[in-house]
Parts: sequence; structure tokens; C-alpha cells
Amino acid sequence: MTRRDLARRMAACCRQLAERGIAAGQDGNVSARVGRDRVLVTPSGMLKSGLTGADMVEVDWAGRRRRGRRNPTSELDLHLRILRRRPDVGAVVHAHPPTATAFALAGEGFTSFVLPELIFLVGPVPLVPYGTPGTPEIGDRVEPFLADHEAMLLANHGAVTLGRTLDEAWIRMETLEHAARILFGARVLGRVTALDPGAVAQLEALRARSRRERDV
Ligand SMILES: [Zn+2]
Repeated sequence: MTRRDLARRMAACCRQLAERGIAAGQDGNVSARVGRDRVLVTPSGMLKSGLTGADMVEVDWAGRRRRGRRNPTSELDLHLRILRRRPDVGAVVHAHPPTATAFALAGEGFTSFVLPELIFLVGPVPLVPYGTPGTPEIGDRVEPFLADHEAMLLANHGAVTLGRTLDEAWIRMETLEHAARILFGARVLGRVTALDPGAVAQLEALRARSRRERDV
């Protein structure tokens, strides 16, 4: 994918996050690698629903703007730290999906095994302790969880998802919020039935296999 196509795809991702209520107003930010030494990020202070490819900002690993008219997202440090720490990750999505964030407010991650698509597409989702938005505190809190997770809930804040591609990171964010809505509904009904360990093991094996096959 060319730089231009990737920037357009990022803008489409932001518009969809806004349309689906996963990012409100200026909330949320997205990043994607461009080549070995540059990263495209969303601009700060702009409505996600109106972004175009031309609004994306290209930065280097020090966070300096190299291309684009806008200022980079205020969560630039978080994105660069994730991409530096996980060379296999090509894109990062941060948003405030309302139901998933409600779990983060309630002090819960999704580490129980109840929904096949969550296990298969996302894996366990830990709750990362609170850090002040827009400061290096968030990256400090997230770093210890990065080696083993593709998605995290941020206490009293929102969620972060990672992917080898932008689509993978974005699908994980949507899957996370969808699962949170289902789980919330089941709790309202009064009972959540966990999958049996054999079914969970099968799904985890499928996830591992799909990773290996796509790594080839
Ligand atoms: Zn945020």
C-alpha cells in the first residue's frame, strides 16, 4: 500500500470509528508504519468524522513532523512506544468505545473466556492502570502489557488495539466494543456462561495457527 493509500485508509478508519460511536468528536487516534523509519499518525484537535488522507501527519521515531500541515496526535508518545516495542505491529488504534470503556471504569478487563470471536480475533484484554491522557504516563503503564497482548483497556479512559495491519487493529477495536456490548447485555439478563476449557483451547490453537500462517 502506498503512503497515500494508507493515509486515505486511516481517514476511512477514523470516519467509521466516529460513525459507529467508538470515537466521539476529536477523541481517539490512529497510527501506521510507513517504511522503516516513518509513522503516519492522525492530527490533533480535529473531528474524526471529517478527516481525509491529507490530514494525516508523517513523523520520525523522535516524533518530529516530517510531512503534513497538521500537528500530530497528543498521544503520539503512546503510539511510537508501542510501534518501537513491537516490530511485528504495523498499526495502533486508540479510542474510547463506550461499553468497553464502561468495563474499564468498573475496573475490569476481559480475561474471562466467554465469546469465540473475542478469543479468536483479540485474545485476553487486560486492564492497564490509569495514566494521565496525553502524557508519557500512558506509555509507561501500557509497556508492561505489550509483549503478550493485542488489545488493552485503559482504566478510566478507553482502549488500545494493535494489528499487523491497520485493518487488523481497527477490526480488533470494533470486536472489542461489540463483545463488551454482548457481555453487558448478558449481565443485565443475569448470567454469563463461560466456554468450557476444551473449546477455549481449540480457539486459542486456531488463533495461533492463523498468526503463523499469515506470518509466512
Ligand atoms: Zn484517549
